[in-house]
Amino acid sequence: MGKITGFLEIERHDRFYAPVAERVSNYKEFVVPLSEKDTRDQAARCMNCGIPYCHGTGSAQPGAPGCPVNNQIPDWNDLVYQSNWQEASRNLHSTNNFPEFTGRICPAPCEASCTLNIDDNPVTIKTIECAIVDRAWENGWLAPEIASVKTGQSVAVVGSGPAGLACAQQLARAGHDVHVYEKLAKAGGLLRYGIPDFKMEKHLIDRRVAQMEAEGVTFHYNSPVGGSAAGAVDPAELLKTYDAVALTGGAEAPRDLPIPGRDLAGIHFAMDFLTQQNRRVSGEAVSGDDILATGKNVVVIGGGDTGSDCIGTSIRQGAKSVTQIEIMAAPPEKEDKALTWPNWPMKMRTSSSQAEGADREFAVLTQSFAGENGAVKQLNCVRVDAKFQPIPGTEFVLEADLVLLAMGFVSPVKEGLLASLGVALDPRGNVSADLSHFTTSIDKVFAAGDMRRGQSLVVWAIREGRLCARAIDQFLMGSTTLPK
Ligand SMILES: Cc1cc2nc3c(=O)[nH]c(=O)nc-3n(C[C@H](O)[C@H](O)[C@H](O)COP(=O)(O)OP(=O)(O)OC[C@H]3O[C@@H](n4cnc5c(N)ncnc54)[C@H](O)[C@@H]3O)c2cc1C
Ligand code: SF4
Repeated sequence: MGKITGFLEIERHDRFYAPVAERVSNYKEFVVPLSEKDTRDQAARCMNCGIPYCHGTGSAQPGAPGCPVNNQIPDWNDLVYQSNWQEASRNLHSTNNFPEFTGRICPAPCEASCTLNIDDNPVTIKTIECAIVDRAWENGWLAPEIASVKTGQSVAVVGSGPAGLACAQQLARAGHDVHVYEKLAKAGGLLRYGIPDFKMEKHLIDRRVAQMEAEGVTFHYNSPVGGSAAGAVDPAELLKTYDAVALTGGAEAPRDLPIPGRDLAGIHFAMDFLTQQNRRVSGEAVSGDDILATGKNVVVIGGGDTGSDCIGTSIRQGAKSVTQIEIMAAPPEKEDKALTWPNWPMKMRTSSSQAEGADREFAVLTQSFAGENGAVKQLNCVRVDAKFQPIPGTEFVLEADLVLLAMGFVSPVKEGLLASLGVALDPRGNVSADLSHFTTSIDKVFAAGDMRRGQSLVVWAIREGRLCARAIDQFLMGSTTLPK
């Protein structure tokens, strides 16, 4: 266990950010890593608790405390403290295919569950995870793991977000012939086209894709499965060609705000805005008219990760002002640990993007948009009570030339793939598949990630991708040695 008295002697000390003025001038990552000595010191704070809530309960149910992929955190903290980085990497990769993604963008429920968090000083778990995997890549310890025996079975994976990638990698390592079908030009799903480079640079995805190709995974880009777009692949063909099909197409249907004035120009879904900027940064062609925040008063509706990414991107594009509004009331500054620990608490959090200069308003409902010459100019808002009912007399106006709708995603898109397969949906409109077998209503078709779970987190997508691969391997071979 790290150093026996480490948590008594060493204060929590985490990575820090480059100054705002410097980082908003570009789209590069701005988190400054700890030195090797500092990382080892931080790992030494781990107490190897009798019940380490940080590494999770093994449950994949929403709200389960700790790390969703069950990273064996106390074990690798000790290995880092002992300077055995290579073994730490081996251990970390035994539960997480892509720790360089989670080490950058996971909200770290593990740290909320850390015993040291009872007094607000959790181990810097996410930082240590990132340091292990970055060091592993630098030292060439992450060679492709090519299956020594091929099974002769083939699997199609539809969608190359973190769920599809994790599923495909596990299946290829089990010896199956895996083909990933992706409707867009590159792999990564929301990791590439939603999350901005300043949170996670895209060469990290390219490196994993190269590793997976060397492991035998074939990627088919610009290949939407279902629908009638150019290059569309008929889902019935996939069912004929492959021994199993995994649906990992995400939850892409955005929540809209159907109020008066919604059709004015200048009101866009967050993903339309974010995808364009991600494409610009990577040199991909941008389709449609440019959506830019430059010189504009921007209002972001919605307070989650997507809203934050819209703020950071608007600021980098040179917005005149950025205001974020949220219908929920402001959460408490601090949680009541006696009630919440080891679960993820509701409390006021300020993302790095919000800290770059957004005004935040809580308990606000937008009642209508108003404009001039067909373009949005203002939002007519009102404050709401705890039941989201308008409070008379609290009406106010926000000036806006660009409005970004970041209110989450309701479900997967039904048209195309899901409609033509005729797969059963759950009451929330996600693909119905249970957490043990990941089987859908259609023989040999499985589902995982946001497409099954509804909008969630990258770490849950990886977890579901791994579990789904295990279920497919079991289905194809009658038994499986793939880890959870
Ligand atoms: C803007 C934004 C920011 C976020 N920030 C964070 C964050 O900081 N931390 C975090 O943990 N989570 C974050 N999330 C959530 C996280 O990105 C998702 O939960 C995760 O990516 C889901 O993974 P997935 O593989 O299930 O689906 P996705 O990542 O959505 O990938 C689905 C893939 O399937 C493809 N596809 C869909 N239909 C078809 C078809 N018919 N044929 C072929 N291909 C198809 C899509 O093009 C896409 O590549 C964010 C989400 C958004 C939108
Ligand atoms: S994947 Fe997320 S929850 Fe798990 S150890 Fe890493 S930061 Fe923590």
